[in-house]
Amino acid sequence: MGNWKMNKLISEANEFTSTIGPTIKKATEHNIDIGVAPTYLCLDEVVRSAPKDMLVAAQNCHYEPHGAFTGEISIEMLEELGVNWCIIGHSERRTYFNETDQACNLKIKALIAHHMVPLYCVGETLEQFESGITKEVVRRQVVDGLKDLTASEVKNLVIAYEPVWSIGTGKNASTEIAQDVCCYIRGILHELFGDASEEIRVLYGGSVKPENIRDYLTLPDVDGALVGGASLKIDSYQALLDNII
Ligand code: PEP
Repeated sequence: MGNWKMNKLISEANEFTSTIGPTIKKATEHNIDIGVAPTYLCLDEVVRSAPKDMLVAAQNCHYEPHGAFTGEISIEMLEELGVNWCIIGHSERRTYFNETDQACNLKIKALIAHHMVPLYCVGETLEQFESGITKEVVRRQVVDGLKDLTASEVKNLVIAYEPVWSIGTGKNASTEIAQDVCCYIRGILHELFGDASEEIRVLYGGSVKPENIRDYLTLPDVDGALVGGASLKIDSYQALLDNII
């Protein structure tokens, strides 16, 4: 999943989707889910102009269906556009917009009630990594973010492990760290949801590039990647896929 963050005008998003057809076709032939998360303002254009098999995710949503929440967008509004994935708890939202595990939990539950796919991001800051508390932090984010969900509700859930210190920094986590933490997350998911947790996909994110994506996607506990910078340019986006098939 490519996370475009606050990048691309509608015309630029349209330019991207108009040339992405062969890449999406190739992904589909290899049974790979592939998509992008544009800004709210580009969602409509991307849904309408993208090939039908391309996933389109929002980068955030509100958990209430409507009301006095200036500046927010509801899940029903996303649904109306044909958007059925939504990133939740990205570290930039946690850092700059004070998003808490409790708010993420409300959003995840609301998305699941609408049969949408929450792509829930977890990961430790550099300070937490250096203090050796990565697993403690990730456990709290997973347990609190998924609180009150039942085994029958989690089959559409996707988790992304994104160490904050590796996002947009070019300092990607080693494959050992990615495997260790993604495996740990799987263990927590199993504790919470039993065998149903096997349906939950776990992604790695943080400075994934065409040159290193294969190293991550061949790890036993990594099912995919959440990619920021390298998803913005069409050549690099295509190369991400080409390098894993
Ligand atoms: C992200 O935005 O989730 C991300 C991982 O960014 P980047 O690939 O640029 O590090």
